Amino acid sequence: MSNNPFDEQQLSNDMFYKTLLESTLAIPWSIDWATKQFSYIGPQIEKLLGWEQSSWKSVQDWADRMHRDDRDHVLNYCVSQSIAGIDHEADYRALKASGGYCWIRDVVHVVRKENGEVERLVGFMFDISERKKKEEELKALHRKLEEFSYKDGLTEIANRRLFDDFYSREWDNAIREQKHLSVILIDIDFFKQYNDFNGHIIGDACIKQIAQMLESCCVRPRDLVARYGGEEFAIVLPETNLEGAIQIADNILRMMNQANLPHRASPISENVSLSLGVKCICPTEKDDKIHFLNMVDKNLFKAKQTGRKRFVADEAKITV
Ligand code: GH3
Ligand code: MG
Ligand code: MG
Repeated sequence: MSNNPFDEQQLSNDMFYKTLLESTLAIPWSIDWATKQFSYIGPQIEKLLGWEQSSWKSVQDWADRMHRDDRDHVLNYCVSQSIAGIDHEADYRALKASGGYCWIRDVVHVVRKENGEVERLVGFMFDISERKKKEEELKALHRKLEEFSYKDGLTEIANRRLFDDFYSREWDNAIREQKHLSVILIDIDFFKQYNDFNGHIIGDACIKQIAQMLESCCVRPRDLVARYGGEEFAIVLPETNLEGAIQIADNILRMMNQANLPHRASPISENVSLSLGVKCICPTEKDDKIHFLNMVDKNLFKAKQTGRKRFVADEAKITV
């Protein structure tokens, strides 16, 4: 033991810091920049990842024990920040000795010499697995919420909100790509009478069944069937000309006939029937998407006025 009281003080200080560093949950480490060798890593690393403390020799060991999907960008980022002398932090999955991965946040401080050159890196590794798990759960919850906010509660098909977003996007696509866009608006005939006769619960079941039937009629992946309002539906058909839209409308009426849903209070049919407004456009910047929807609605109105259980279809005049 030294007689020098300052050395003793120094020694007790060192012991104090060592004990402190090795009792934290965060794992301290130090890397010599010139040799890229670990000059120190806390013994806690063994408990966290299973690799012995003495097995952490160089930066290569650190890189090798990183998930391959994280390795390149974490390495590039840490090296470039270190060269620039900037303190930084990085999240990555570290490989455990037993297999499996642990999410780590590495917080890095760059120690520089007086002349500005990098001397060493010191830092702490934090186990952030729990935090990442919570983040993933939160993300999944957000995805679910988003899904619900675009889904109609009764029919489970797209709701009006998704229709509005989707229609708007497809309208812009059609202008940009100079493609046709068709829209079909559908309304159940004499549905008030249906409800009055059968009650609301059977009315709801009928709306649900029609929603499913409509979806089965639109097979292209980009077609969208949405519940537009109470007993009204809307279909957006991107890249579909009038002939294609008429085929779908025709098919819907045929399927509705085959479904044989009795409507004892209907003045025009033994079964539930539909009226459809169909319209096609090859829109330009001069056209207005709301005006176009109103024109589709006019066709639906014509179908109602001329006897129901039918569709009225035409093509929008090109605006010049
Ligand atoms: P039209 O042939 O002219 O379309 O006559 P209609 O009776 O179908 O038209 P109207 O718009 O007067 O009535 C629509 C009815 O749809 C009234 C409303 O009670 C019913 N309805 C709207 N939404 C729902 C729903 O979610 N469930 C049920 N069961 N009925 C609904
Ligand atoms: Mg209606
Ligand atoms: Mg109706």
